[in-house]
Amino acid sequence: MKKSPVEKTYKVPVWVDKSGMDDDELCPDCFKAVGVRSRYKLICLLGKSSKGETVGVLTGHLGLSQPTITHHLNILKSLNAVEVVERGRERVYSLNRKAHCFLECKIPY
Ligand SMILES: [Zn+2]
Repeated sequence: MKKSPVEKTYKVPVWVDKSGMDDDELCPDCFKAVGVRSRYKLICLLGKSSKGETVGVLTGHLGLSQPTITHHLNILKSLNAVEVVERGRERVYSLNRKAHCFLECKIPY
């Protein structure tokens, strides 16, 4: 089943390097993923990690509280941009590089 094209109505935020992107506008889902600067920073951090990161590590990198990081991660997860696996007692988050945001809208990370 082919999905109908999504309307792109949101400007790419200034903190996203749009040089590799086809458009300078984003669909609602992608804007939701990067429209908050620290959420986009999370995408970039996870993009640089091949094995994924725990909330604790991400919290240390971004200097935000754990609930804030978890909140951002849950939104990214709901957009399918981030995947989570249980590793022992830890939850490890990694970037879903095959997600629409990165394959189709080409958000850089
Ligand atoms: Zn998109």
